[in-house]
Amino acid sequence: MKIAVASGKGGTGKTTVSVSLALSIGGRAQFLDLDVEEPDAHIFLKPQIEKEYMASLPVPRVILDKCDFCGVCQDVCAYNAIFAFANTKQLVVFDELCKGCGACTILCPQKALYEVQRPIGIIREGWRGDIHFFEGRLNIGEITTTSLIKIVKEKAENSETTVIDSPPGTSCPMVEAVRDADYVLLVTEPTPFGLYDLKIAHGVVKKLGKPHGIVINKYGIGDEEVEKYAMETETKVLLKIPFDKNIAEAYARGIPLYELDERWKKAFRDLFEQIGKEL
Ligand code: SF4
Ligand code: SF4
Repeated sequence: MKIAVASGKGGTGKTTVSVSLALSIGGRAQFLDLDVEEPDAHIFLKPQIEKEYMASLPVPRVILDKCDFCGVCQDVCAYNAIFAFANTKQLVVFDELCKGCGACTILCPQKALYEVQRPIGIIREGWRGDIHFFEGRLNIGEITTTSLIKIVKEKAENSETTVIDSPPGTSCPMVEAVRDADYVLLVTEPTPFGLYDLKIAHGVVKKLGKPHGIVINKYGIGDEEVEKYAMETETKVLLKIPFDKNIAEAYARGIPLYELDERWKKAFRDLFEQIGKEL
């Protein structure tokens, strides 16, 4: 079973929920921090890191003597990452735009292209008790967020119960993170901004056909519009986490909500059970 924890915007408590949910499983599990631009689940899970790998993409390079500047590579590239200039006999590759799909190299009629590996980030792997931890960290200035998320997912086991900390937002990285999840938990705040972003994220999850539910964090700070929206759309609110000084303090000290007290242990075990029942 794969559970992705997502939110339309950052700072809603997505990591708080995903970490505590993983801890509540109480047995062999897997945690993927796919918020690769700003991975922070390690602060709360404190895994023992055992391996670190470089993540890279294969980008094309040309053997100019073989190239006849036919432009096939340019035509097949969906990302405008390679250009052939017949007049000046130049072939230009924009590495930052290249997604490493390999199409240009495969389809070059002259076999004039070969590939080199371009580092885009690192993957850290370790353990926190029975939880197998994976984290992607995108290099500063990189825009290949979705590619790194794919690479981290390829490293992970498919058979384990998995909790995914998804990137915030509703663009390609979020879609890639939740794409093969069995269930998506949408974390939001009871504020107009929270509701606005929830509606967009909810639309994406519905389009993807994923079973889903809502967690309201900082419950009590805003209004009741999120709950009204959940009722109108017949979406279950599975957990409400109050706006509470003790919770904020624990967060600031890197203590998972699950470990704050017995009440929260039970709340997250119940949440995990409810998701199991929904599926
Ligand atoms: S497809 Fe091959 S031969 Fe044609 S322009 Fe590109 S690299 Fe050169
Ligand atoms: S590998 Fe794919 S993305 Fe990169 S330049 Fe070639 S066709 Fe474009």
